[in-house]
Amino acid sequence: MIDPIYSPNPDRYDGLMQYRRSGRSGILMSALSLGFWHNFGSISNFANCKAMMHYAFDHGITCYDFANNYGPTYGTAEETFGRMMDLSFRPYRDEMFITTKAGYDMWPGPYGNWGSRKYLISSLDQSLKRMRLDYVDLFYSHRYDPNTPLEETLQALVDIVRRGKALYVGISRWPLEAAEFAYRYLRERDVPCLCYQGKYNILYQEDDTGGILASATDAGVGYVAFSPLQQGLLTDRYLNGIPQGSRMSRREALTPDDLTPTLLQQIRDLAELAAQRGESLADMALAWCLRRPEVTSVIVGASSVAQLEDDLRVLDSQSFSAEQLDIIEDIIHQK
Ligand code: NDP
Repeated sequence: MIDPIYSPNPDRYDGLMQYRRSGRSGILMSALSLGFWHNFGSISNFANCKAMMHYAFDHGITCYDFANNYGPTYGTAEETFGRMMDLSFRPYRDEMFITTKAGYDMWPGPYGNWGSRKYLISSLDQSLKRMRLDYVDLFYSHRYDPNTPLEETLQALVDIVRRGKALYVGISRWPLEAAEFAYRYLRERDVPCLCYQGKYNILYQEDDTGGILASATDAGVGYVAFSPLQQGLLTDRYLNGIPQGSRMSRREALTPDDLTPTLLQQIRDLAELAAQRGESLADMALAWCLRRPEVTSVIVGASSVAQLEDDLRVLDSQSFSAEQLDIIEDIIHQK
């Protein structure tokens, strides 16, 4: 049934969003993608999920990022999206770029984890059912599996595309050498890797210093940054304590122990610089990622429309002076 109330903003493509090409491909991604790792599962309020998804679509966000086990509980973020497809988005399916992944634990036993052909193909079939879709736009191997031959994982990705279950494939969190093998393997089979998805933010720069960003760019592969706000640490969320209901208060992948006095001081110093730039810390952190043309999209998480609204203001951010970039480096290296 189509929700009679939702009528998308007709101006959603009129300058509200920036679109960036993913590597050497035909795909433009919205500079901001919406991530469904937290806040969209069965424990979340459906009306709030719906409001966030409508807000994102109305503001030109075309990219929606899932994995089989996003929730909590596992699978339920995809189910929420499936409900939303039927309620609001079915007529707009071709305007959306929907991604999912498999690679972490999903179901019990030896076939519900890692990188075997059996796991990847059956997991995607399950994801499609939950999301009420015939195909996803991009399917990722969610992590490198040291115990499965890379050829098996990669051939499964190729076959997924050949069967029409995904239009493109990508890899996430693969080490450099294996990623370069993947780019070659996939290109030789005419199913080029569209994206590498990795963690990149002011506090976590390993994909840049370790060469992942440069090698993806050299291979014509886009780079998509996850956790650009370091799960909320690079926002005003924890400047004055740990708010009730925050990810840290729920101890979901972030705990109070992570917020050391040194880190808190760094975040406060970064917030001060953001204030001098006339923007929120979240916007400065997102702008810092997007200053790199190699970054195709940053996947933000959000628990409210107000957060999304703030995050989208990054598109009005000013560019960084060399001095500001140096100050950021000084702050994060202070002990
Ligand atoms: P972020 O770093 O964007 O953190 C999101 C959290 O930051 C929100 O849940 C919210 O916390 C807080 N937040 C966001 N905007 C604001 C704001 N303006 N002001 C204050 N607080 C704000 O991203 P995630 O860690 O959630 O990751 C984003 C996506 O990346 C995931 O949903 C997933 O799609 C992808 N991902 C991929 C991984 C991979 O292995 N490939 C791993 C991890 C993520 P709160 O909930 O407390 O309100």
